[in-house]
Amino acid sequence: MKFLKEIGADFVFKTERRPARPTPVRPEPVSAVHPLPALAAPLAPPSKDIASVHEEILRCQKCPLAGDRTRAVPGEGNLATELMFVGEGPGQDEDAQGRPFVGRAGQLLTKIIAAMTYDRQNVFITNIIKCRPPNNRVPHRDEVEACAPYLLEQIKNIRPKVIVTLGKSATDFFLPDTTGGMTSIRGQFYAWHGLQVMPTFHPSYLIRNEGNVGIKKMVWDDMQKVMALLGKK
Ligand code: SF4
Repeated sequence: MKFLKEIGADFVFKTERRPARPTPVRPEPVSAVHPLPALAAPLAPPSKDIASVHEEILRCQKCPLAGDRTRAVPGEGNLATELMFVGEGPGQDEDAQGRPFVGRAGQLLTKIIAAMTYDRQNVFITNIIKCRPPNNRVPHRDEVEACAPYLLEQIKNIRPKVIVTLGKSATDFFLPDTTGGMTSIRGQFYAWHGLQVMPTFHPSYLIRNEGNVGIKKMVWDDMQKVMALLGKK
């Protein structure tokens, strides 16, 4: 509730359900947001089921991050969801528990998801890499490349309508040709192999800028666009 008040979104608890549904936000045409024609192609079918993917992740040794992890963190949530959140990588709490977004940033993400009238069990939450980098550093390119097949198999299995990318690393994974910082990239849908990608700030960035209501407002604006596209408002 405090989060919603700070970002000016507490009205979601104050008002009755709106009688008329606003027009959903229309995704940008592919040509306007991403010039690569390959992105218009639909995703190939999955090559293995998600249980097998997660088993592979738990015993994976494909990159040096395997040596430092306590537990790999495949991700969790509803495998039939329309909404997926993808962050950068596990932190200390996630590494200890083997679950994504369970630390302070994760608690904030859980509040954001609740404000969107979902809960954690209704969506799928994961990261671009599944093992914690030392000291929470940004993952190296070779680590991301080694881990990418797991995320792609997760997406192919789940086939959400919308993927929310949390922060620059996750956004760069999906939209490598975009330029500029998160402030300029966020807030619009990007077509990605037949799905819609919405970049927004990572919850840990919100925490680091706790007094900055403008950043919270931007995140909430982004999530409202996602809700509109998914018929949630
Ligand atoms: S980060 Fe990914 S590729 Fe590297 S060891 Fe963990 S699961 Fe394997």
